Amino acid sequence: MSSRTEPSFRESVDLMFNRAVSLMDLPPGLEEKIRVCNATYTVRFGVRLRGAMHTFTGYRSVHSEHMEPVKGGIRYATGVNQDEVEALAALMTYKCALVEAPFGGSKGGLCIDPREYEEHELELITRRFAYELAKRDLIHPSQNVPAPDMGTGEREMAWIADQYARMNTTDINAKACVTGKPLNAGGISGRVEATGRGVQYALQEFFRYEEDKAAAGLTGKLDGKRVIVQGLGNVGYHAAKFLSEEDGSRITGIIERDGGLSNPDGLDVEAVRNWIVKHGGVSGYPDAQYVEDGALLLEEDCDILIPAALEGVINLSNAERVKAPLIIEAANGPVTAGADDILRKKGCVIIPDMYANAGGVTVSYFEWVKNLSHIRFGRMQRRQEEARHQLVIDELQRLDNVMGDTWSMSPNFKDKYLKGAGELELVRSGLDDTMRVAYQSMREVWHSRDDVTDLRTAAYLVSIDKVAKSYHAKGL
Ligand code: NAD
Repeated sequence: MSSRTEPSFRESVDLMFNRAVSLMDLPPGLEEKIRVCNATYTVRFGVRLRGAMHTFTGYRSVHSEHMEPVKGGIRYATGVNQDEVEALAALMTYKCALVEAPFGGSKGGLCIDPREYEEHELELITRRFAYELAKRDLIHPSQNVPAPDMGTGEREMAWIADQYARMNTTDINAKACVTGKPLNAGGISGRVEATGRGVQYALQEFFRYEEDKAAAGLTGKLDGKRVIVQGLGNVGYHAAKFLSEEDGSRITGIIERDGGLSNPDGLDVEAVRNWIVKHGGVSGYPDAQYVEDGALLLEEDCDILIPAALEGVINLSNAERVKAPLIIEAANGPVTAGADDILRKKGCVIIPDMYANAGGVTVSYFEWVKNLSHIRFGRMQRRQEEARHQLVIDELQRLDNVMGDTWSMSPNFKDKYLKGAGELELVRSGLDDTMRVAYQSMREVWHSRDDVTDLRTAAYLVSIDKVAKSYHAKGL
């Protein structure tokens, strides 16, 4: 164990920021302007439940308004505090800049264990929290647009959207006040799985570059790679599911609140998820070895480690023992600044949070645009695209008839080619493009500068440069 002390989450983000800006040439004062959090609102409100008044504490932090609206999730967890919300808001600024989502950074949180409340109680609490934020424009389509995070999902976003609409009855853009809503309440196809899908696309892009794989001592494809995932919630479940079902990776470890599961032959992600839903945890799951202290699995041998639960889980106390050559930060801040130093020295490659989990905000951006344009993506062009494809198919069909046995269309070609892109296909295409382009911008810096030896510093350099340029354009 190191004698160094662990900084707080926000200090950790600041340390990483400082390391990057020391390599930049920013005008005096601008560096601090970008780093600091503009404002954090704390609210305490009461809700009458079970015959008594209960007081809840919530936060909404705005890190940077260089672009508006500002954007960032709302988290429900007992550990929520001002430091955490500010760290997460700062990460949102850098994340949005990196993936070119036109937002400033924000984040919110409520100190609550949602599992302790009935659905109707959670609705009352969420609506009251939303009321407190909306009346201060901390929920607003052009000012501040929340989204789901740990402990919240489509259901909470639908309540928030409805609460805002009740308070702003004539706002034609009311639905754009929050993203991550269910499809029937103004959501977009592919948002629920977007962050996990983004983790998959990020890994696919990383594995396209021999040089990058070599930096982690890896070769080949994602197929057969051993993956350990911490947190089988929204992000971890989708990432693990897509990697195992579509890329052939082997999920050899899953870590949850009550312990971890390990199986060198690969775990069935869907079966583990169903087990958790039914039994409340992973303990007792039949086709794996159960480890009571799940965090020990973070130190197991594997090719890719995906922390997808909480911040600070890889820290000074365990970083030295982490064996994974590649870590992709699906969660926000899972590796502390101190652990990051240790892992870098060991040669571990870390795909940083601000890039790795940006799939959520990317598809949230698409949802916000959909809400403002009041039309589903693909609605205008899909059938027209199909009609043009039909012309090509008809010509090929004619050729097929003339050529007899010497040539024929491949099986399934007709069906696949004819299908015009609907909203889901367009969302996936936009997300894939975003993840590829953002990765390329980071790796360009990583490989072209001698003083940049890791992807996190590269990510900060790219995003801080963009934020600085927008301040500059505003005359600051
Ligand atoms: P979630 O609430 O859906 O899932 C979190 C999972 O982690 C749950 O299954 C929970 O049981 C598990 N967990 C909690 N404590 C744990 C512990 N000590 N050890 C192991 N597992 C534990 O949350 P989520 O939306 O999947 O978010 C996870 C992380 O991803 C967070 O850091 C969040 O900020 C980040 N993130 C989420 C989104 C999104 O779109 N939901 C977007 C970007 C980043």
